[in-house]
Amino acid sequence: MFTFFAVASTPAACADEPRPPAVAREARLAGDAQRTRLILDLDRATEFRAFTLANPPRVILDLSDVTFALKPDAAQLKRGLVAAYRFGVFAPGKARMVLEVTGPVAIDKAFVLEALDDQPARLVVDLVKTDPEAFARSIASAAEQRTGLPATPVTPAPAGDGRPVVVIDPGHGGIDSGTSGYSAFVEKTLVLETALALRDRLEKSGNYRVVLTRSTDTFVPLGERVRIARANRADLFLSLHADALARGDGQARGASVYTLSETASDADAAHLAEKENKADLIAGVDLTDETDEVAGILVDLAQRETRNFSAWFARTLVGSMKSATRMHRSPLKSAGFRVLRAHDVPSVLVELGYMSSPDDLKQLASEAGRDRMAEAIAAGVTDFFARKSAGGHLVEEKGGAGR
Ligand code: ZN
Repeated sequence: MFTFFAVASTPAACADEPRPPAVAREARLAGDAQRTRLILDLDRATEFRAFTLANPPRVILDLSDVTFALKPDAAQLKRGLVAAYRFGVFAPGKARMVLEVTGPVAIDKAFVLEALDDQPARLVVDLVKTDPEAFARSIASAAEQRTGLPATPVTPAPAGDGRPVVVIDPGHGGIDSGTSGYSAFVEKTLVLETALALRDRLEKSGNYRVVLTRSTDTFVPLGERVRIARANRADLFLSLHADALARGDGQARGASVYTLSETASDADAAHLAEKENKADLIAGVDLTDETDEVAGILVDLAQRETRNFSAWFARTLVGSMKSATRMHRSPLKSAGFRVLRAHDVPSVLVELGYMSSPDDLKQLASEAGRDRMAEAIAAGVTDFFARKSAGGHLVEEKGGAGR
């Protein structure tokens, strides 16, 4: 038995009275490389689920309705079978801890202890070392009980609303913070702020219907972001990110606009796509069920036109962003970003700048800087749609059967 649901009863809980989320205050590890115990102190007992994932081997703990108030140095916790761990919001009302483990492990025990006297409620997970075959079997059984994520949000257009739909995708979120470039800021927050500023500008124009893939600090898997764009019949998909170089890895700065390509425009672009594509891995999402969809998409002829529109929009955007922010010395690039793979939605990924560059960070971290950026991106969007409709035959019929 490798996957289990542990449900702790809560005394005197009234079912229809909303309670504040449980708070996780401390995490500890005990044991050695054969058997390791995780203890999480909570201010009340809560429901959770524990399961394992492979490549790399991880243990996932999904906790319902928990917020984390762990000390910052808790993130450095490692011992025995646990090499690293992280935590954060995974979906609304759902928190997740991901334990990176040193090799194949089995969950031997997982339970919640009610608070007793001066002892807080505790979540206890015991991991034991196992062999690769047993680990593989446990993954197979866990796959049948895959994490239930909320259904793809679709905001139906009111009848007669023929305005273009722009989907803005702030990268990362929740348990996946993105990069920090050794700064006090995190990518997920800066790109969300920029996305909200962009949304406000586009909505104020009255010319677009705007949908965000996330408007709060919540994790959204990459495939889900693509599904949101397709389900809302997006005319344009804009993913916003910020890059960072490793320490001692040069002084690059400036914004770049990426389109999808199976062959990256250069080694840096390939490396960046690899980093950005890790989001699902960071949150512990199992991707095995998404590979086929992508393979199917790649042979679809519809993507040829989409690719042309994407490239055209990328060029337009570089032109309009130039006026507001410093651009990278070669700002137009391409690589295999998973989030750009909707075959029927023109899509670009904007790296707004380098968080490792003090100048770029100053702009990203200031409201005025983000507003300037949002203004320039909105101008690029306007330019794109103006020229698209002037192109006559390039205007697609909305709501066709293939969409
Ligand atoms: Zn990113």
